[in-house]
Amino acid sequence: MAGTVVAPYLLNVTERSTDAGTAGGTKTQLAPFDYHGVRLLESPWQKQYQETRDFYYKIPDDNALKGFRERAGLPAPGVKLEGWYGNDAFNVFPQWLSGMARMSAATGDQAVGEKAHNLMLEWAKTIEPDGYFYYSRKPTFHYTYDKTVCGLVDLCKYAGYQDALPLLEKITDWAIKNLSRTRQPATSGDPSSGMSEWYTLSENLYRAYQLTGNPKYKEFGDVWPYTSYWSKFTTQTDPDIHDLHAYSHVNTLSSAAMAYAVTGDSQFLKVIINAYDYFERTQFYATGGYGPSEKLMLPDGSLGKSLEIDSNNFETICGSWAGFKLGRYLMMFTGEARYGDWIEKLLYNGIGAALPMLPDGRTFYYSDYRLGGCRKIYGAIHDIGGDWRWPCCSGTFPQVVADYHNIIYFKAPDGLYVNMFLPSEVTWTQAGTEVKVTQQTGYPESDTTNLTVQINKPTPFSLKFRVPAWSRGTTVKVNDTKLDVTIAAGTWATVQRTWNPGDRVTIQIPMEMTMVPVDRQHPNRVAFRYGPVVLVRTEESLEVPNRTELSRWITPASQSLEFHTLEESKGNLLPFYRVARGQPYRMYFDLKG
Ligand SMILES: [Zn+2]
Repeated sequence: MAGTVVAPYLLNVTERSTDAGTAGGTKTQLAPFDYHGVRLLESPWQKQYQETRDFYYKIPDDNALKGFRERAGLPAPGVKLEGWYGNDAFNVFPQWLSGMARMSAATGDQAVGEKAHNLMLEWAKTIEPDGYFYYSRKPTFHYTYDKTVCGLVDLCKYAGYQDALPLLEKITDWAIKNLSRTRQPATSGDPSSGMSEWYTLSENLYRAYQLTGNPKYKEFGDVWPYTSYWSKFTTQTDPDIHDLHAYSHVNTLSSAAMAYAVTGDSQFLKVIINAYDYFERTQFYATGGYGPSEKLMLPDGSLGKSLEIDSNNFETICGSWAGFKLGRYLMMFTGEARYGDWIEKLLYNGIGAALPMLPDGRTFYYSDYRLGGCRKIYGAIHDIGGDWRWPCCSGTFPQVVADYHNIIYFKAPDGLYVNMFLPSEVTWTQAGTEVKVTQQTGYPESDTTNLTVQINKPTPFSLKFRVPAWSRGTTVKVNDTKLDVTIAAGTWATVQRTWNPGDRVTIQIPMEMTMVPVDRQHPNRVAFRYGPVVLVRTEESLEVPNRTELSRWITPASQSLEFHTLEESKGNLLPFYRVARGQPYRMYFDLKG
């Protein structure tokens, strides 16, 4: 079966992408910086990145390697990492390598790159002659192979360790011979179906093919299209996807995205565009999160009803990682700004609102949006007795915070695209001239961002910035002079000029309070969002005297993004990302009348 090509419905497509300039590839509208040239400056998100980096850097190598060495019969000092880490189905080791490789590329942090490389070399000693590489002798899941491909690709691509490639080939030869090709689709109502997540494999295999040019990875990637699911988004208006596992069914769309990247077949692009539109319309909470109890919902009011019963509303870390990737692929291939709005929501209300890792491996897993009152805790609220050490989300945690460097800016031949308003610097070469732009902002706690252009000689290029879909009245100035440029919510605004050294751009994006209904069937079940930031209330009920004149009864408090309401004694509204562990809060409210 090796070399099985994509499914018939995709082969029958005659329309090819007009962007596909060359065979086997497609034109990218916007290029990400791909962990090069972007530096975070001081902000809560830079702090979260640094804390996460330090946490993973301090995990003793012997502990991470213990199970691999025991399986190989090698001396295995150290203390075993417990919880999910001990289970092959979800060992997160290669995701740590991926995250650390991306961190080292983004920040020039050699120490974290060397740690990842050393872990890889020690793990390589445990690979068996036939290429068997898992943590133990338990069932061999596609999931773990997929993450290992990602880790090895990233060690080579981002950290420059070429010696990852022979290992990648060795374990892939094993996988080609041994991984089950049953490819059973996940089915509604059967949580164990598709649980090995074979349908996310092709993304990383196609990345391996792009990196190496070795057709073996392309051919093996071609084995795993998730046709029965992907095709729903091109053939059905209301695709029946309810009860499917949420994170992996967003993550598999990144495989469709990479199938588009390596084939140029526009059908794959349609899949991800239509899927995003459907998710945006039917699956997302106000936070950008999705998947109560890890399930996709019927578009019949189930999302709104989930708030009555469910505390496990969003698998936060993995879900944000999948969202960042899919949002970025969509922006790369379409050039459209609107997908950045989702990335922004996840940044502030998803991963950016997560609690930090605990030393024993406990990981902030689910965000809690339940109507009756919520807490930020570790592990699942309905399964408090379970073991939530080193779960899947402890694998994506270092990846998704490294990704902060890869969501702020894009570039294209005409210039720079500013997607996120985060304190940062970006350096790139524009038509042979090195340009550095420094972005200073307190956004989203202030509504203004300032960009300064550092350049040696006057240089023409466009500086474009995302005008959020939720915004009204955005303005832009250059050197304090207001510009008359087209500004439309949900698109890029363009400042085209010949830039001089020291030119300053000031973008003001006024924010206002909005009430966001959870779904169409529940227009009175709302969350409060100020700009992109979801607010929560620390106390009980919330009287709503007048829905249309929010500013009359919600007034700014002394701290940014905090608000008093009429019943001040019952607590303020404040950003979800500012809520501490264990602090009670409410995110959704049923309005009266
Ligand atoms: Zn997870």
